[in-house]
Amino acid sequence: MSRSAHPAGPRHGDVLPESHYTAPPADLNALDEKVWSRTVRRGDDGVVTVAGLEVTKLAEEFGTPAYFLDETDFRERCRAWAHAFGSDADVFYAGKAFLSKAVVRWLKEEGLNLDVCSAGELSTALAAEMPADRIAYHGNNKSVPEIRRAIEAGVGRIVLDSFQEIARVAHVARELGVRQRVQIRVTVGVEAHTHEFIATAHEDQKFGIAVADGQAAEAVRRALGHDSLELIGVHSHIGSQIFDTAGFEVSARRVVQLLAAVRDEHGVELPEIDLGGGLGIAYTPEDDPREPHEIAKSLREIVTRECESAGLAVPRISVEPGRAIVGPTAFTLYEVGTIKPLEGLRTYVSVDGGMSDNIRTALYDAEYSVALVSRASDADPMLSRVVGKHCESGDIVVRDAFLPADLAPGDLVAVPATGAYCRSMASNYNHALRPPVVAVRDGAARVIVRRETEEDLLRLDLG
Ligand SMILES: *Cc1c(COP(=O)(O)O)cnc(C)c1O
Repeated sequence: MSRSAHPAGPRHGDVLPESHYTAPPADLNALDEKVWSRTVRRGDDGVVTVAGLEVTKLAEEFGTPAYFLDETDFRERCRAWAHAFGSDADVFYAGKAFLSKAVVRWLKEEGLNLDVCSAGELSTALAAEMPADRIAYHGNNKSVPEIRRAIEAGVGRIVLDSFQEIARVAHVARELGVRQRVQIRVTVGVEAHTHEFIATAHEDQKFGIAVADGQAAEAVRRALGHDSLELIGVHSHIGSQIFDTAGFEVSARRVVQLLAAVRDEHGVELPEIDLGGGLGIAYTPEDDPREPHEIAKSLREIVTRECESAGLAVPRISVEPGRAIVGPTAFTLYEVGTIKPLEGLRTYVSVDGGMSDNIRTALYDAEYSVALVSRASDADPMLSRVVGKHCESGDIVVRDAFLPADLAPGDLVAVPATGAYCRSMASNYNHALRPPVVAVRDGAARVIVRRETEEDLLRLDLG
């Protein structure tokens, strides 16, 4: 608890970061459409609805905390990505952002492919009958049994992340008598402009094989040397919550240069490149994400230009958005408990969840918004910090927010844009029961992942 839990010394969540708030918004009752899912409205009576369902009724029926996932919004975003990239490109949804059988079915119906990076994610995909050839298998430390299972299932591609893995996958594929389609994940020396913990393409990191020092070219050499591997291309993922395509520009250039070097050395033009995911979403009204068609247009232009100058045919492009599809489609509904005003500082508003259902604020200093949703209020704005109920001072959900000064225990508040990396990173810390995910669509609500129970916890505890 608090400082002693972090023997490594000061870190996020211990040394509380500076406040980032500017001024209170003009209207605390307004719901900015950038951060809320598309069917969220505030009714004339002040109660917020999603897909036509009042949050007060949803709380009664499903309890709090709970995630409400706007299925219409999710499907529209899938369609927008698929349409923007068209038939000569592939969109892989990054399952780690949030995966469940219902989500897999929606992806399948909307024509998207799926990235998985563990046996558990693969089994969820297969349980919901995602065709295996539409699955890409990622990870920096796939075990031999995982590799065998992925190949036996018939996954469309395995993204190779190290020299050892090239040999391992080649060996397992040979044993199984399969020619496995693979890509090589490279690092291109680009650091996405975002928090250090979630930037992944500078070379000092566990993922990928560096282009700069010739390692990636050596990896291609080795992969091409195995008859049991069909090398279809190169993969580069440069980070997360990125708003500007400058990083992708450098990444595409280096990847295309590698393809040109491969052609020069081996006389082979690799047919595909994957530019990864990492496109940003609005967590607060200050964030300004770009639409899928703009992203598609600029990535296509960048790749085409680089290929022209290298004299290469334009390869098939794939991208892997996770957050940009599911992030904006859900909010977390909480009930307000203890309210503690600290004179001259701020008011601490405790909710009935916390870092067990949203670790991102504690982990990355992520910013979120919050609103009172069970009623409207004309009270003055009150500088607030929304915190959870865990035994940890870093258990913060929303670091700085304005809530109405008449906020009271029993009110419902909602934190928008929690579709990605919240339920998927949820924990049982303090033996919290992980909240349900409720899909809402056209006036109907359906639990797609149920709330954990104490029986679930005790089932694992063999005494
Ligand atoms: C995490 C990850 C993604 C998705 O990232 P988002 O920020 O959710 O878009 C895509 N590709 C790879 C390889 C990843 O590790």
